[in-house]
Amino acid sequence: MVKKHESNNRIDSNCISEIDENPGFYGKDTFLGTDPAGDDLADNFDIDLPAVSVGTPKKRLQPKNMGAWLKQYALANRNTTVTGAFVAALLPHDEYHEKTVKQAMLDLGQKGDVLTCVYCEGIPTTWDHLTNSVQSHKANGPGHRVYNLVPCCTTCNSSKGGKNFQDWILGYTNTAGKKIPPTIRVQAARREHVVQSLIAYQKKCPPRSDADLELEEKLMAMRDRVWAIFKEADDLVAKVRPRIEKSRRYK
Ligand SMILES: [Zn+2]
Repeated sequence: MVKKHESNNRIDSNCISEIDENPGFYGKDTFLGTDPAGDDLADNFDIDLPAVSVGTPKKRLQPKNMGAWLKQYALANRNTTVTGAFVAALLPHDEYHEKTVKQAMLDLGQKGDVLTCVYCEGIPTTWDHLTNSVQSHKANGPGHRVYNLVPCCTTCNSSKGGKNFQDWILGYTNTAGKKIPPTIRVQAARREHVVQSLIAYQKKCPPRSDADLELEEKLMAMRDRVWAIFKEADDLVAKVRPRIEKSRRYK
């Protein structure tokens, strides 16, 4: 049932001493537990997992799915990532000061160090940028400022996605004219209050300066040069690739 990956360095480096010290450690009954270092042992071995286990995907991979992987990958597909990298470097940020953050959490109506998701009042796991940092390939919002960050749970964070918080909470009409209803993540009775308190909270962010905007202009011009190089590389690949592929056919 249990087979070791011969080439798996993690086993060699992390687990072998455990086997030496306790030969029974990998016995059948104990196998699907966690090792003393807290790693999931199933990650380290090829094993026959039970037919149904936590996290079992709804659809099993089929051979025909491989088609989606067999394609030319264009550099132009990374344009958004490049913009994100430039914007991340460009956006203003606050230094971390415990006192400022504590005050901000009080302003947000949080209770001491026990934070709750500002949207659903669940257990927060991350900091949500109230206003996203990138929109339409441009820097957007106040940036990585204390008063642009709120405690948020994973589900709300992923449900909100790139939408602005007012639209996501209260509902909106999208560019195709379709009415998007308010999120069910924020209780109907709280929606208006949550939006108003978040607007008031975010207003405490200092505005971006002229020097800041000038830097943005320069960095975006550099970004455009990277995009142009990507395009040049894609064009080169498109020109040369067919010739290379001819000599690479399966017999
Ligand atoms: Zn939440």
